[in-house]
Amino acid sequence: MLQDILLTPEEIALKAEVREFVKREVSSDLIRKMDRDEVTYPREFVKALGNHNLLGLRFDKKYGGRGLPWSAEIAALEEVGVLGTALGCAFGMPSIVGQALHSFGTEEQKEKFLKPLLKGELISAEALTEPRGGSDFFGATTRAELKDGWFTVKGQKRFVVAADGADFFIVYCNTDPAGKPRERISLLLIEKERPGVEVKYLYKLLGTRGGGTGRLIFKDVKVPVENLIGGLNEGALIFDTMMVPERLTSAGGSLGMARAALEVAVRYSDRRKAFGQKIRNFEGVSFKVADAITQLDAARALTQAAGKSVDAGLPTARRIVSEAKKFATDTAWNVCNLAMQIVGGIGYTNVFPIEKMIRDTHLIQIWTGTNEIMNLLIQHEYYRELLKDPNPGRMIEADAEEAAQNDEKVYEDDEMWTKGW
Ligand SMILES: Cc1cc2nc3c(=O)[nH]c(=O)nc-3n(C[C@H](O)[C@H](O)[C@H](O)COP(=O)(O)OP(=O)(O)OC[C@H]3O[C@@H](n4cnc5c(N)ncnc54)[C@H](O)[C@@H]3O)c2cc1C
Repeated sequence: MLQDILLTPEEIALKAEVREFVKREVSSDLIRKMDRDEVTYPREFVKALGNHNLLGLRFDKKYGGRGLPWSAEIAALEEVGVLGTALGCAFGMPSIVGQALHSFGTEEQKEKFLKPLLKGELISAEALTEPRGGSDFFGATTRAELKDGWFTVKGQKRFVVAADGADFFIVYCNTDPAGKPRERISLLLIEKERPGVEVKYLYKLLGTRGGGTGRLIFKDVKVPVENLIGGLNEGALIFDTMMVPERLTSAGGSLGMARAALEVAVRYSDRRKAFGQKIRNFEGVSFKVADAITQLDAARALTQAAGKSVDAGLPTARRIVSEAKKFATDTAWNVCNLAMQIVGGIGYTNVFPIEKMIRDTHLIQIWTGTNEIMNLLIQHEYYRELLKDPNPGRMIEADAEEAAQNDEKVYEDDEMWTKGW
């Protein structure tokens, strides 16, 4: 299997451990109840993960993590991903919120919030998106004014997973309206019980149900300065750091979702008969399987490469993480659709879980930065890398037969021709 070449023996063992957890500890009943919105947040699931020391695998052991590299966490994410987006996100959230606390939090914040988070005793949520928009992150209008050691927070955030379910939120606020976009945002930790915090609305979602996605309102919420994570007006740096787990958890989880749908379809095609033979004997079916597994393996390899780039601190990590988020989530969407086509009409019903996977996977192309925003980042980084490469390779242009015809290499309007000699 591809994992044998990508993972160490220890990482393969972790993958097997998580696979076992997912098989034994998570009931189909929970998944169904969440999809029916009968469970609004899977708190017991997170607690069970904490009990097995499976939350925030990358973080220091002294805070309750396992001190593992990204490659291990991605392997675990794939296994949890087979459960769908809502449970995958519940697994990934301590990795995202935990990153802010682990990298920028004070020792006191780590004791009070990070440790219980990794035990599954506290549930967290992150609030970036506002009704006015999610892509334009630095345009945040939720205002936090600092006076006499207290922030007063006013504003609202939208589409917050675990708005219902979380004990605390990390909330990006505008703390200096006159400042430049990257110099006016701060990150505050706001406990749900603070007066003025309100979960206003729970969304009726196409998929990813049961994750408590809602709108949060902050009405003059008093937050002590000790709840500031990192420096005042230094939220941009935390945002940049948090975007790595945001996007890699999306990428890693989507590998599992694609795999789950494909497994259902492949097993079905080995049993279902048409025209007197198994449908897998038709190229129209089996070549879809070939396309799907090839895309999935490519997504796995790219996601693992992204994780290794982050761990190695490579300057290209930002681009490759964005590529992995885009490619793995698009792959999950494609593979789930191929799976439905393979299964045919019954795949469109809730007799099989592929329709749920399709409902789930459309979200992962949108959240944690839409795939259009990923494209924005990817091209930007690549132009910069190539055009500013201090040690460029061979100048391929010179290999053309007529490479010396410089007059023919026109890049813009030449005044000589338009205005005459
Ligand atoms: C179920 C669900 C759960 C979510 N969970 C969370 C959460 O826990 N916490 C959180 O903070 N947010 C969360 N989100 C929000 C999510 O991250 C945003 O929806 C997403 O970032 C897009 O923001 P938007 O919906 O405001 O769309 P907009 O930013 O309004 O974008 C609309 C469209 O315009 C495109 N677009 C915008 N700007 C550009 C550009 N410069 N170039 C090209 N295209 C562009 C976008 O790609 C998109 O197609 C969640 C969303 C959903 C639906």
